[in-house]
Amino acid sequence: MGYNIAIDGPAGAGKSTIAKLAAKELSFIYVDTGAMYRTIALALLRAKIDIADVHAVEALLSEISVSIRYIDGEQRVFLGTEDVSALIRTEEVGNMASKAAALEPVRAKLLSLQRGLAEENDVVMDGRDIGTNILPNAELKIYLTASVDTRADRRYKEHLAKGETCDLEEIKRDIEQRDFQDMNRAIAPLCQAEDAVYLDSSDMTIEQVVKAITERARRAEA
Ligand code: C5P
Repeated sequence: MGYNIAIDGPAGAGKSTIAKLAAKELSFIYVDTGAMYRTIALALLRAKIDIADVHAVEALLSEISVSIRYIDGEQRVFLGTEDVSALIRTEEVGNMASKAAALEPVRAKLLSLQRGLAEENDVVMDGRDIGTNILPNAELKIYLTASVDTRADRRYKEHLAKGETCDLEEIKRDIEQRDFQDMNRAIAPLCQAEDAVYLDSSDMTIEQVVKAITERARRAEA
């Protein structure tokens, strides 16, 4: 069993940036579970499947495979043999991922992949239900959040940095809608685990958040 750090929180809280840096510092592997849901979402969008059609969703799930590989220390996510790591980073795929993630067969498909990785490796795993559902015995659990305005602003700047045009108000609306969906779904909703450390990163630098996590991990290991 590896040493497991679970980081959960709403969209745009900075989980992946923080988790990646904390993993690097601790020499753990970083597992981005959102990327797995996004990969299924991409497959659903490509196949033009209406996610209200449970049979069609199940049929697609039985045909596709989602896997991750580490190339030069970076997590890459594969749909079958195709590396879709870059293609899944759109708002359209993120919004579809949030809808698909409410479906039981979608979550069931990814559960053993996620638990298996945590069993075999020391991991920093981020998502929505890692501390509450996937790794309830994780050695360290973090609930990372920030105000909606801060999170929307960060996403907006990320898109601009990639040269993509976007609208701040629209991003804010998308984030609020995704938070609502993720927090109110019946299965494995986003919520803070009872034993998770709450971190609001609105007024913290990336370095401060990473330090808050790695220091706790080192203390717990000592
Ligand atoms: O974190 P990211 O924005 O990439 O996640 C995309 C969507 O996948 C989330 O909005 C959420 O609905 C879903 N997700 C989830 N459980 C996880 C990780 C992501 O439901 N552990």
